[in-house]
Amino acid sequence: MRKNILCANWKMNKTYSEAQDYFKELLSMDLPGSQVDIVVAVPDLFAKMALDESEGSDIKIGVQNAYPKESGSFTGETSVSALADLGIEYVIVGHSERREIFNESDAFINEKVLAVFEQGMTPILCVGESLEQKEKGETKKVVNEQIEKGLTGVQAEDISQLVVGYEPVWAIGTGKTASDEEAQQAAAAIREKIAELYSQELADEVRIQYGGSANPENIGSFLAQTNVDGGLIGGAGLEAASFAQMIKVA
Ligand code: 13P
Repeated sequence: MRKNILCANWKMNKTYSEAQDYFKELLSMDLPGSQVDIVVAVPDLFAKMALDESEGSDIKIGVQNAYPKESGSFTGETSVSALADLGIEYVIVGHSERREIFNESDAFINEKVLAVFEQGMTPILCVGESLEQKEKGETKKVVNEQIEKGLTGVQAEDISQLVVGYEPVWAIGTGKTASDEEAQQAAAAIREKIAELYSQELADEVRIQYGGSANPENIGSFLAQTNVDGGLIGGAGLEAASFAQMIKVA
């Protein structure tokens, strides 16, 4: 039985003081943390504060990106090892905004997945098709390819820890969502691919989130799909009250 995992991805939002207020508000609420894994993926600048604020609570802290080297001349980047040392547990890898705006390739995303696992953290590997790909009926092909390339070289012993974020690109920040059935089918295709690459047993342990205009009203029907085990939440995760409502549904 997989435990649902909800992750708020703040993207590049909030000031430091707004970020502090969010944690104070979220922590003041009665969250059912034993039934669902709760992650807030913050900008790196807020990571230490977020860890301090959430210490002893059920809230885990993630970041939205990391550089897949221990250290070196990579101006402006943050290493996986520094994040792991700080206490970060989750790293979003391959978000469509990184793929598109920052031209991240599947090969580079794969390096990040490997580095995040190597540091004992959990990657949330994002995959998803564009509108054009969806219209051509290529969703399954696209997510399968992103999964296969993203997981190259990942050891079987790490796979059960993996979290996959299925985010159709056309649903991100648009107010449009995949239908429950589309989310279920894409998640099933992802699980099948992982089973083909590893084993059914391991694939059955991987948690697959749906992301793209998810909110407190629609999250319940996504989570009701057998292959969907959580949500990757953008806009609706920016307010503590609305994220808390989603956690209660999960
Ligand atoms: P929205 O929930 O704002 O559509 O964003 C989804 C997302 O990209 C989360 O990573």
